[in-house]
Amino acid sequence: MADKDPVSVQMTESEAAETRPDTVDPNLTFADLGLDDRLLRGLAKLNFTKPTPIQAASIPMALAGKDILAKARTGSGKTAAFMLPLVHKILAVKDSLPANSPELTGTRGLVLVPTVELAGQVTAFTQNILLFCGRSVNVLNIAGKQNDKVQQPLLATQPDIIVSTPSRILAQVKMNAVDLKTHFQTLVIDEADLVCNYDYEEDVKELLTFLPRIFQSFLMSATLGNDVDQLKQLVLRSPAILKMEDKTMDSTWDNLKQLYTVCNENDKYLILYVLLKLKLIKGKVIIFVNDIDRCYRLKLFLEQFTIPSVVLNSELPLNSRVHIVEEFNKGIYDYMIATDESGLKGEKEDEESSTQSESQEATKEDEEEADGSDDEDKEEEEEEDNVPEGDIEMEFEGSEGEDLDNGDEDELEAMMKASDSEGEDDENAALAEMQGDVKSDTTETNPKKRKEPEPTTPSKPKKGSKKKDQEYGVSRGIDFVNVAAVVNFDFPPTAKAYTHRVGRTARGGQMGTSLSFVVTAEEKAKTIKNSQIFGGGGSGSGVNDNDEAAFDRVMKQQTAAGCQISPYTIPMQQLQGFRYRMEDAMRAVTKGAIREARLKELKAEMLNSEKLKAHFEDRPKDLEFLRHDKTLHPTKVQPHMKHVPEYMMPKVQAVSTQKVGENAEAFLGPITYKKKTANSVRKARQSKKGGGAGGKKNDPLKKFSSGSKKSGGAKRQRNV
Ligand code: AMP
Repeated sequence: MADKDPVSVQMTESEAAETRPDTVDPNLTFADLGLDDRLLRGLAKLNFTKPTPIQAASIPMALAGKDILAKARTGSGKTAAFMLPLVHKILAVKDSLPANSPELTGTRGLVLVPTVELAGQVTAFTQNILLFCGRSVNVLNIAGKQNDKVQQPLLATQPDIIVSTPSRILAQVKMNAVDLKTHFQTLVIDEADLVCNYDYEEDVKELLTFLPRIFQSFLMSATLGNDVDQLKQLVLRSPAILKMEDKTMDSTWDNLKQLYTVCNENDKYLILYVLLKLKLIKGKVIIFVNDIDRCYRLKLFLEQFTIPSVVLNSELPLNSRVHIVEEFNKGIYDYMIATDESGLKGEKEDEESSTQSESQEATKEDEEEADGSDDEDKEEEEEEDNVPEGDIEMEFEGSEGEDLDNGDEDELEAMMKASDSEGEDDENAALAEMQGDVKSDTTETNPKKRKEPEPTTPSKPKKGSKKKDQEYGVSRGIDFVNVAAVVNFDFPPTAKAYTHRVGRTARGGQMGTSLSFVVTAEEKAKTIKNSQIFGGGGSGSGVNDNDEAAFDRVMKQQTAAGCQISPYTIPMQQLQGFRYRMEDAMRAVTKGAIREARLKELKAEMLNSEKLKAHFEDRPKDLEFLRHDKTLHPTKVQPHMKHVPEYMMPKVQAVSTQKVGENAEAFLGPITYKKKTANSVRKARQSKKGGGAGGKKNDPLKKFSSGSKKSGGAKRQRNV
């Protein structure tokens, strides 16, 4: 199979519709696709009533035995598009064997993913669809950095499906811990472009030598450009190529209202405070900032008004990050302050260099059009800049460290420094030092990943260099659900990052809004005049010099894609009453307070992540008590800041999730507040007394003598 050019069975969505006219039929069901009954029951349990376009196109082709090359992003339903046929085939083979056949046991499917988080997500989804398959099919996720002693006995049971990063499974297969030859049927490479970005091609190449000659392959990728060429050549044989139009893959752009407002750095805080406090943005909101310090600056600022938020950044331990995303998806937190800081660096370089070398790329494209699909390839290059590309890219350092005591603060600070040093290959050195044994598994398989330079003397980032060992990352594949709005508190430095970010909302047919703060050069100058409150103009390494260049690129890109970014006008004079409060709050958010908060959270999350892990494995329900939006306030919160008196109410247009094109005037109007009822007062009092998450239940975390105990237990807060 290796070295064979994929013979294109080109298939756009409309062509797929011609082949299977029923794919456009809104009444099409999974049963129509010929799936096993047990899977249909699992899907019904998940409330999946009809297949998404990618599922409708890929499942029949896959069941017919074709290799699949699909341009598919998170949100399109791509996991089911490969997992349903994969499981269906296993069920069919097993059904054909006698009950006592030794052939029943064996690994038949392997799903390769670029990150541990994505492995968890794919495994969880598979377990859901296997609900009615009894013991016929099982799935094992080996992407985490478990000890070989734990992992190998599990592999010895020959799980039907293995989910892993390429390096992890390669390490195991080289140690003969698993047989991928005898019964093997299906290989999936999910998020293939990221697999390539993370330099996993060599691992995949080597892994192929352990697989049989014939098997079915799926390659799912957000892009089908040069980046995945090598993988295409390696794993696909005459694939059906499914290129769904992005607008049909998910309805993001039809349902997304994109807004921007020009303001200065100081006013960003003022506007956000007003929007959140007065609930002018309703529902779950992801607020993007450009670096980790700014995450905590904003969190502490909002805390001053008793607006709880949760922070998600590349510095937090894996377990915490996975848990934070899960809880956010469940609706436990309203506001997430996120960074995509590290993921943006490479893109910025890419974007800059791509503008410089546009003509060179055009020549390259010409060369690549061997199959005569000129327009498609060009389109693809454009698409890479013009359409949403899934989730936030964040790098992540392994986190399975030793328990921390107070004496570890220096190491934590070293970690923070490491996170701050941009674009370094050695970002994780300080952490790695603390982790000792954690490094072994990836270094064994890929000597290039062994590099662990000094944390304090980081090397210069190489242009275009790609990081190794990025198995940890809240990366693009992660599915954030029901996000009502995305706020670009800091404007992203690249158009690509913009599409990643705003693509977190308006998913799955729901409405969504994005609001971007744009600081022009003129506005930036105003900020600096006021800098004493904001610790040097409120700037940090994450703040752009000004946002104009990036904004122009985004505007161009969105206009070319037929989308509109409309101005959102805020009558700033009406917010003057809030300005004093904002400035008061900002005075409390000093650099020292930010540093302390960051250290405190990092320490608490590492303790949560490690000390409590075993406890949660035994009692998963207790996880509900582990909250990540606890106040960090090293500075005192002034009680009067919590409430907004009637006389201060402005007349501001809500940032609603209204359908695009609807009359914005409809949202102009005074904000009305619900009067406090006796009931709400009673509830608030109860929660103040320490009712905690879930009311009367006892907080199991209190049993622990860890640092998290000191930080206030699992106190639930409300934000008005
Ligand atoms: P994916 O692109 O596989 O990450 O899926 C994105 C989201 O869509 C996940 O939350 C899935 O559970 C959901 N999903 C996938 N297929 C369907 C379907 N046919 N109907 C409803 N939801 C779906």
